[in-house]
Amino acid sequence: MSDFIPIDLQQPQPVEQRLPEPPMPPDVSVDLMEDPFLWNEIRAIIENHIATQPRSLQAHIGPSELGTDCVHCLAAKLAGWKHANQAVSWLPFIGTCVHEHFERLFRDLSEGTDQYEHRWQTELRVTVGALHGINDGYEITGSIDLYDRKAHATCDWKIVSDRTIKTVKATGPSQTYRIQASLYGIGLTRMGETVERSCVYYLPRNAVSLASAYPVEMPFDPQPGMWALQRANMLKAFMDTIRMRDGLPTLDAWINRLPRSSTHCFDCGTWVDDMITGLPEFDPPASRINVPSEWLALIPLIQPTYQPNNQ
Ligand SMILES: [Zn+2]
Repeated sequence: MSDFIPIDLQQPQPVEQRLPEPPMPPDVSVDLMEDPFLWNEIRAIIENHIATQPRSLQAHIGPSELGTDCVHCLAAKLAGWKHANQAVSWLPFIGTCVHEHFERLFRDLSEGTDQYEHRWQTELRVTVGALHGINDGYEITGSIDLYDRKAHATCDWKIVSDRTIKTVKATGPSQTYRIQASLYGIGLTRMGETVERSCVYYLPRNAVSLASAYPVEMPFDPQPGMWALQRANMLKAFMDTIRMRDGLPTLDAWINRLPRSSTHCFDCGTWVDDMITGLPEFDPPASRINVPSEWLALIPLIQPTYQPNNQ
């Protein structure tokens, strides 16, 4: 007996390095999957939640809608037209979730005691102007995603597709977003705050990192926002006059004849009153009623696009 443990003094020979083989996937057949029965209930809960979000229920027009280049849909919103039943807005909901998280992030930083103390204001409610209807005017309000008190800047998060980022890089921010930013600055100025910069941050919805985010930072310019407020009030005055003189069906017919966006409009084709079937007996009355020429003559007065030189 010995405790001697033999030691192999031979030089170790290189061993052929071989990666272990990945295990074979388990032999699963799709036949084993059951028809989902929990999902229907879960989906209904999510969709009901999305459909009852404050943004989905918004009745009055807001800063994010005043700058559209679609005169038809601007008038439809001012008139309170109803959307046809649409699929629940999943993509905007993703944006809402990011907004809510960023709201907490910057609010917590601002409530801390380090270098960001008191710097940020999140979801700051502002009144940007008013719509002076003959019977039903109201103040136009909105929430600024982030106001940077130190830099005197408004910031807006846009959670968007790769295609949108590509378009913005090529042609700049849309008129809708530029006017929304301008209106926020106007609202803050009305509160006595100083605004120097309007920021629109396009964040990719599908990318693996923020490397493809596209930040747009502009000097604050109140003129586009003032133009949009003036245009909305002119349009509202026309609409109230037509309705008082010739009634609601004529007003709807007039709205039906307003020019659509030449670029892209999320609302075009979603209104019940727009549903043209090609069968006149099923089409909404708005498409069949004659509009007096005096009302048609007003249409060219409403500019679809902001022209700085016209101010
Ligand atoms: Zn439209």
